[in-house]
Amino acid sequence: MPTHLTVRGLVIRETPVHDADKLFDLFTENGILTVQAKSVRKAGSKYGAVTQLFSYGEFCLRESGNRHYLDSAASLELFYGIRNDLNALALASYFSELIRKTATDQPQPQLLRLYLLSLHHLSQHDRPLPLVKAVFELRLMTELGLMPNLVCCPVCMTYLPAQPVLRIGEADLICKNCRPEISPLDFETKQSVLLAARQAVYAETDRIFQFRLKGESESQFAEYAERYLLNRLPLSLPTLKFYHDLTDPGGDLP
Ligand SMILES: [Zn+2]
Repeated sequence: MPTHLTVRGLVIRETPVHDADKLFDLFTENGILTVQAKSVRKAGSKYGAVTQLFSYGEFCLRESGNRHYLDSAASLELFYGIRNDLNALALASYFSELIRKTATDQPQPQLLRLYLLSLHHLSQHDRPLPLVKAVFELRLMTELGLMPNLVCCPVCMTYLPAQPVLRIGEADLICKNCRPEISPLDFETKQSVLLAARQAVYAETDRIFQFRLKGESESQFAEYAERYLLNRLPLSLPTLKFYHDLTDPGGDLP
């Protein structure tokens, strides 16, 4: 007997199968489900749009054996602004790869919320891409329990050091003057970058994007977030290389 369930979820991968069918990965509050959908690639299919990559909707599914099959679906948000912007699309794909490679069986409602908020900003084009990327990366670390401790300098307890050093190896913050030794994983930076990192790591989810950074601060913030993530999650991430190839051709790639 098949079981029926209704879930809200975001399509994070799609694979064409047979003539007009599709398999897609649906990221829900309770993890990732792989769903088979019949005839949705036919012209004029009722569920063609809602089963596209980066579409968020409510899906009625049938579970039979280990498989899920699509019965019906209603779209909640299609994030149209991402579909005609190759750089934003590349970044959204990188987020998908991170989600797939760090997924667990535990409910992760905050992770879905983080992804939807990030797609919202990518679609609205109201935040620079490097900033959306960095906030996503640092907040993902928080949701996975891998975040840095950025509360204060562990030596003198200063909350906002004049010359902060974000130590990637120790996953913490220290004043330049309190640092006992210098490591190649140390990231010497500015107060504005420390404050941005704190916002991404500690703020309520709805507030993590509520700040602005400019120029060098923005690029330092982006560099710190990516170096920190790659240090904590030593994964092969082809979508990250693709994003850098697009946005920084010939640049210094990780
Ligand atoms: Zn100190």
